[in-house]
Amino acid sequence: MLFTNIGLIDEHFTYHKNCYVGTKDRKIAYIGTEKPSENFGSEYDGTGKLLMPGLFNAHSHSAMTLMRGYAENMVLSDWLNKKIFPFEAKLDSNAIYNGTLLAAAEMLRFGIVSTTDMYFDIDATSRAVQESGIKMNFSLGMTCFSPDGIQAHPLFRKFSQALSQFKNEDGDRFRLDASLHAEYTTTPRFVEEMAAFAKENRLNMHVHLSETKLEHEQCKERRQGRSPARYFLDAGVFDVPTTAAHCIWLDEEDYDIFKEKNVTAVCCPVSNLKLASGFSKPKKMLDMGINVALGTDGVASNNNLNFWEEIKLFAILYKAVSADPTAITPLQALSAATQAGAAAQGRPDCGAIKVGNCADLIVLDLENQPHLHPCHQMLNNLVFSTVGTEVCLTMVDGQVLYRDGIYTTIDIDQVRHDTDAAIRNILKEL
Ligand SMILES: [Zn+2]
Repeated sequence: MLFTNIGLIDEHFTYHKNCYVGTKDRKIAYIGTEKPSENFGSEYDGTGKLLMPGLFNAHSHSAMTLMRGYAENMVLSDWLNKKIFPFEAKLDSNAIYNGTLLAAAEMLRFGIVSTTDMYFDIDATSRAVQESGIKMNFSLGMTCFSPDGIQAHPLFRKFSQALSQFKNEDGDRFRLDASLHAEYTTTPRFVEEMAAFAKENRLNMHVHLSETKLEHEQCKERRQGRSPARYFLDAGVFDVPTTAAHCIWLDEEDYDIFKEKNVTAVCCPVSNLKLASGFSKPKKMLDMGINVALGTDGVASNNNLNFWEEIKLFAILYKAVSADPTAITPLQALSAATQAGAAAQGRPDCGAIKVGNCADLIVLDLENQPHLHPCHQMLNNLVFSTVGTEVCLTMVDGQVLYRDGIYTTIDIDQVRHDTDAAIRNILKEL
């Protein structure tokens, strides 16, 4: 496809007018201000539109779309134990497949091209990902309260079998990461064995870390005064590239650990606000050179997958929290939403518009949008004024998956019908 006469956000987040961008097969093959002589197939008139890199969601639980608005205004323990866990116990493969497809549709609609997901059904999730065309680093949210090691864990056995099927090679849209749900849901033996397995198999790691104050303080009581970050470090978890969700209650030393071990910290501002978990310190992390990405978390605690809400909140919330209106620039917010997430997923050829990179692109319609006029500075409008519905095209690996309300790979009416049926069945049993 050749995008013609279109605005462009380049790899340095500089805005250019009237550009031409050509994609060939899965890649970006041309960027320039002149129309290329090479034929890139169909042309897309970019007049009044902006081409920018697709968004990378660094922490999600996709199939939780099924629990959108199901339980609200509860304290975390009641919310989990009385509503979420009983509902999840009734989920079958069909429900997870449809819930994941619904999430993929919603993400593509708002310009998310890839997500780092944690849930508990590889087959159903991979099927939804392969069919929809979105990218995903998937991990099983493994918990273990028994003295057994990983080999005795039924989910781990499924995971190690699936590793022979999904090779995690460059260019694979669906990849498997190792995972530990969290420090408080696993045993030291399980943590150490999973860390060793990830290292041996060169897998990325996905964990929840210091999301609540209680979790952080109880960890110190249980683990000889060590924080979750220190405890994971000692167990070898951070010897592989790790994505740590939330990172709110970090101790001073934890920031140094993140920097030294190149751990990605994922900020989930909407989820953290809604569950009253607290506030992370992305300015401090960014100043130290820590990779900071953004995540939606699950829809049950969000309640949508509109990443533009995360971007705006990321840019404004931590100004208030740090009493510093200069904290978090629009460039830092957009970088966290794109390049940082792609780096965390181990996809170095994604997250920026650059020749040779994957053609993971989104188009925003800037015309006839009163809330985007005037435009003194494009990045300011993108971060502070955009609401998400401006996304009119989403392309992953050179394939258009969403355009002007139409999904090319997802039968959205069928998905809505099938998710409703799955939910009816679950509610009947609860
Ligand atoms: Zn989570």
